[in-house]
Amino acid sequence: MPLNLTTYSKITWCPGCPNSQILVAFRQAIQELVDQNKLKPENLVAFAGIGCHGKITDYLNTNSFTSLHGRLIPAMTGAKCANPELTCIGFSGDGDSYSEGLEHLIHAARRNSDIKVFIHDNQLFALTTGQASSRSPLGFKSKTTPLGSIEPPFNPLLTLLSAGASFVARTYAGDLKGTKRIMEAAISHKGFAFVDIIQPCITFFDTRDYFKDRIYWIDENLPKNDLNKAMALVNGGDEKVPLGIFYEVERPTFEDQLAKI
Ligand code: SF4
Repeated sequence: MPLNLTTYSKITWCPGCPNSQILVAFRQAIQELVDQNKLKPENLVAFAGIGCHGKITDYLNTNSFTSLHGRLIPAMTGAKCANPELTCIGFSGDGDSYSEGLEHLIHAARRNSDIKVFIHDNQLFALTTGQASSRSPLGFKSKTTPLGSIEPPFNPLLTLLSAGASFVARTYAGDLKGTKRIMEAAISHKGFAFVDIIQPCITFFDTRDYFKDRIYWIDENLPKNDLNKAMALVNGGDEKVPLGIFYEVERPTFEDQLAKI
């Protein structure tokens, strides 16, 4: 059944912004999952936080909810607890979830809440015109760091693996096919699925050339249940940036435990 996932809202992302590719990949992933009877459109709820990424729910003809800054995860986990039939998929940014609301992300991973989180990681606060975030590299110059950032950047994948996330992956927004594949796998996973999406902000921090020379896809057939190997992969330095599903295991979800009380 072809879905109409578009809306009448005018897209106001900067022309060429990779957020548009994330939107297209997501629409395609949803269509495919619905066609395969793995997802009921009426049960789908798209959540967003605050930031450039947050406009995505305006462009998706689905149930949706826009949360406060940094408070995406509580809205998602609340909805999922109230109605476990829902497929709760959240979009957030590195400013929104790695800088403002990091604690929620860590605890949702620890509990294995059955929600899927896609982070548009552009390494700054883009909507407010390019201030440094916890993901900005050392030396990054911005309005808030005019002499260059003196803080090492946060490693979200390593943190989420340590916190207990049962699905951890990374993709690159410019690779539409790869992003769609990772999104489908994340949405199909039962438990907390976390995907960092490298999304260069072409207006305030254009990293496309930087990543073009560094990204590579890991072998899809590698075992996905080896936590130490996953940690080593995502902590291997800046020279090469692996993409793919680093870790995937099954364990009881928070909602399943809650239903037994
Ligand atoms: Fe995209 Fe950056 Fe423009 Fe925001 S400011 S829409 S992230 S290019």
